[in-house]
Amino acid sequence: MKKHNFSAGPCVLPQSVLRQASEAVLNFNELDLSLIEISHRSKEFVAVMEEARTLALQHLGLEGKGYQALYLQGGASTEFLMVAYNLMKSKAAYLNTGTWSSKAIKEAAIFGEVAEVASSKHQNFNYIPKGYDIPADADYFHCTSNNTIFGTQIKEFPKTDAPLVCDMSSDIFSRQLDFEQFDLIYAGAQKNMGPAGTTLVIVKEDILGQVDRKIPSMLDYQVHIGKDSMFNTPSVFAVYVSMLTLRWLNEQGGIAGMEKINQYKADLLYKEIDRNPLFQGFVQNKEDRSLMNATFNLAEGANKEMFDSMWQEAGINGLNGHRSVGGYRASMYNALEPASVAVLVDVMKEFERKS
Ligand code: PMP
Repeated sequence: MKKHNFSAGPCVLPQSVLRQASEAVLNFNELDLSLIEISHRSKEFVAVMEEARTLALQHLGLEGKGYQALYLQGGASTEFLMVAYNLMKSKAAYLNTGTWSSKAIKEAAIFGEVAEVASSKHQNFNYIPKGYDIPADADYFHCTSNNTIFGTQIKEFPKTDAPLVCDMSSDIFSRQLDFEQFDLIYAGAQKNMGPAGTTLVIVKEDILGQVDRKIPSMLDYQVHIGKDSMFNTPSVFAVYVSMLTLRWLNEQGGIAGMEKINQYKADLLYKEIDRNPLFQGFVQNKEDRSLMNATFNLAEGANKEMFDSMWQEAGINGLNGHRSVGGYRASMYNALEPASVAVLVDVMKEFERKS
């Protein structure tokens, strides 16, 4: 029996996707060749790339609206610098909600002035700042929609005339949003979309081409757009599995259907965290709680050894919190079955009975 995989990323993927991916590794499209042995320029792989790009835009409701979808390499961490390279003339505004925002800020500062509009760092990022001002002269505003490590999530995005750039690595395709409010979205594939090795970038074309600096080809969004995301050899396997995962998302009723399941899972777990006196949620305000990553600690005096052995015996994997928060983190990405959350909740109840 497969483990209940609460890993923060790379993480659980749909079983049907894993099965199809493993078949394609042995024999892709009955070509008597592996997916990873054929040319990325073959018509079979070009079709995969095109379908993956189209599905991404369709799911987000952005098809035909001036956006391009790219599958790039270098992880979301490379987007921290590519965003600034391609968009920053002199000054950009950043919201600091955690480790990944801080890293994005560090890279952007290489290219110009960073105005940090607000930060929750003084409280170890346990809330989402609100009510901040974005300077009128910012070339863009950058935020992180879901803070994977701390378990907070932005529920409402600020209104601004500056292009809105968002790192959605850990909650893309998980909930309905007006995606047209964003001018650039990026996400490493390894949470809701596939294996590590490719990064989805969704960019509104009209925000590009406005900086004077020379941009190295591999870091230039316009170069990748001009080559249909095939400027160099793409991560063929990661793109293929992303395509399969986006097809699977259609079977779940798209983002709308997925959101209902994700809300159900999160409600189930947070209800138990709030009810059970042996646990405490990490996030200060309930409204900021992430639907994807639930962070919690044991109450003082609770028996950690006993809880740890209980969840491990129940076949749960990946529940330990990130070292900068401690405690526990249950990552409930799209492919995690509600039944896995039910198993965790049962363990928490049983732990209370036994304590
Ligand atoms: N942003 C967020 C929100 C993340 O969760 C992560 C990885 N966990 C990253 C960026 C960095 O992604 P990568 O490892 O793909 O560079």
